[in-house]
Amino acid sequence: MSTKLKPQHWPMWLMWRLGVNAVAWRRVARPGRFALVFHGVARQRYPDVPAGVQPHHTADELRQTLAWLAARFAFLTPDEFLHGSRPGVLLTFDDGLANNFEVALPILETFAAPALFFVATGHIAAAEGGSRWLHFCRAWAAQGWGDAAAVPAAIGHEFYDGMTEAQLAACGRHPLITLGGHTVTHPFLTQCDAVALAGELGECRRYLQAVTGQPVDTFAYPANDYDRRVAEAARQAGYAAAFAVSGRGAGLPAYEIPRIGLYTTHPAYLGSKLNGLHRRPLVGPALPEGA
Ligand SMILES: [Zn+2]
Repeated sequence: MSTKLKPQHWPMWLMWRLGVNAVAWRRVARPGRFALVFHGVARQRYPDVPAGVQPHHTADELRQTLAWLAARFAFLTPDEFLHGSRPGVLLTFDDGLANNFEVALPILETFAAPALFFVATGHIAAAEGGSRWLHFCRAWAAQGWGDAAAVPAAIGHEFYDGMTEAQLAACGRHPLITLGGHTVTHPFLTQCDAVALAGELGECRRYLQAVTGQPVDTFAYPANDYDRRVAEAARQAGYAAAFAVSGRGAGLPAYEIPRIGLYTTHPAYLGSKLNGLHRRPLVGPALPEGA
């Protein structure tokens, strides 16, 4: 959330100071490929609002992170990441928040950085002002203000609103953006019965395809909650690939592509998460030939 390092990051700082990261970037990370996961991006940090209910990044923090990445890695398109073997990073953003369109996208444009937006379609509003917050957004609002109705309208929009249908359609036409599924209501998928699971996966994909007129081939599991049954259901719903955070050994590699979450901008933190030692980089296409 900031450039400050928390105590749990001090070993990362030590690795950075000892030069471990610098050597590892050259030897391990540079020839490899990583998928990264971001969430909300606020315009600024609000000192009067508890940090835990604010989006993970501000615009400045995203800019700093992308500048750090641009100096070390190529930005890959989803197609290059899934089917090619060029080293680099794939940027992904979860949840379909309006701030991804309004705040993050202009920053991605300045870096010419492609990104995959994974959208939970249940909070997409037909028009401006028609906010339908996802359950965790409502919980954060209640935690920060006692009641969702007490959140100032501008802050509620900046932090928690989903995109409008018009913004989603604009993402579908944007040369840097690819849309992927992230369910309808953002549930814990391992707790859904077969009917609910098929609905969450299938309705999300159908809706995104209908609004954008584009095929939707990728999916990301909310809260990294999946198992073999859920991964199999993602395949059944027509997705060609699904992204996790840490793998859970479901036995379907194309449906548990790991990602790295980046939550602060300190170079020691970024370096240690992307030096190839924290998570082994992918070498070669994420999807097997012909997938
Ligand atoms: Zn999510």
